[in-house]
Amino acid sequence: MRSRPVGKIPSPGELFLSRPPRTVSERVKSKVFFAGVLAVIITAPLMGQCKDINSRSMAEETAFNQFTLDEDRLQGEYASLGFETMLRQGGKSARRIYDKAITDQLVEISRRILALAPESARSFKFSIGLVDDSEPNAFQLGGGVILVTLGEIAEAPSEDFVAMVLAHEFCHTIRRHRTAFLTRLKLAVTARAVDARLAALHDEFEQEADIFGSRLAVAAGYNPGSVIARFREKKSKNWQLRATIFECAAAGKSLEPEAMSFDFFAIREHARKLLAAKGSGK
Ligand SMILES: [Zn+2]
Repeated sequence: MRSRPVGKIPSPGELFLSRPPRTVSERVKSKVFFAGVLAVIITAPLMGQCKDINSRSMAEETAFNQFTLDEDRLQGEYASLGFETMLRQGGKSARRIYDKAITDQLVEISRRILALAPESARSFKFSIGLVDDSEPNAFQLGGGVILVTLGEIAEAPSEDFVAMVLAHEFCHTIRRHRTAFLTRLKLAVTARAVDARLAALHDEFEQEADIFGSRLAVAAGYNPGSVIARFREKKSKNWQLRATIFECAAAGKSLEPEAMSFDFFAIREHARKLLAAKGSGK
């Protein structure tokens, strides 16, 4: 069996060390590359549309869940160990890898976001792992285990984009979506409930993760501009709604344009090289 595949695992409290939101001077100090164009953001007409979305509170009750917090953590551990098998079943052969440079950068972004997370987030020991898959994706396996593919880093237009993705996954964890879903699944089998209800639950959880995740990342100083742009490109109603949710998180806020710090630029290049090496069969 492969050894424990997680990247750098900060101690439980470590990810919560308070980090102030990013400032302009900090960006300049870290040799900012401006991603340009996507400065955005969003003003008055949207505010009415955002009223419902922005009135949601992360302190509101979570979905019905028959699992304990310890079981959330165990779910994460088990899923983490069986992750590669799970990928193989889906026809993929991607492996977990460890890369210090990328992991350190993801942990840094995570700290900024989690510093602003509600108290309930402290029940989870967050860890960030990497998967050497070129397809952009991120997963949370429950209990705080988050996985990000190299493709997600390699294709991210900015650090801000990755921050939005991570914050979305953190909110799935904090809101305990995985075990809430398993709870419903368990009950659905006995009640022979239809798949449609589970699909609706899935959509509801995605929406929660978008609403609270975008809010956290924006509070940490990140700009959702490129996420919004990407969602707007996809024409379906669902993607348009998701774009609106991210716009609402930024509505009325004055955010710096998306920028790419030197550190992020470097790890993105690094992720691309790792994928290219894999592609050439090395
Ligand atoms: Zn999600």
